[in-house]
Amino acid sequence: MSDTIFGKIASGEVPADIVYQDDDLVAFRDLSPQAPTHILIIPRKPIPTLNHVEEADAALIGRMFLAAARIAEQEGIAAAGYRTVINCNAGAGQTVYHLHVHLLGGRPMQWPPG
Ligand code: 5GP
Repeated sequence: MSDTIFGKIASGEVPADIVYQDDDLVAFRDLSPQAPTHILIIPRKPIPTLNHVEEADAALIGRMFLAAARIAEQEGIAAAGYRTVINCNAGAGQTVYHLHVHLLGGRPMQWPPG
């Protein structure tokens, strides 16, 4: 199933600047970066939103965050600090309905986020 742009990136149908991939996950640079490092980590499984995550996905979700931490290390932003974000539904700013973790770093972050 590759019904969203991220599904098409996961299947290789649409190109992306991929920084990591394995059997379950793909991580690639955001087309419109909001920080010097802005990477999206997605499951190959097309889960639309965090609301759709099931008990059986628990390990997969954990692996998405493990990947984020490893990629942060590779990108050289782990020590200074970085942010991981999942926007769930339109009210939180979700625009692509294929679950993704944003990994942002390389600049100071504000709190609370907008
Ligand atoms: P959301 O707003 O759903 O949390 O995040 C979607 C993100 O996907 C946005 O940051 C947007 O810039 C990024 N994006 C949308 N389309 C593409 C694309 O075709 N390629 C890449 N690499 N990023 C995309």
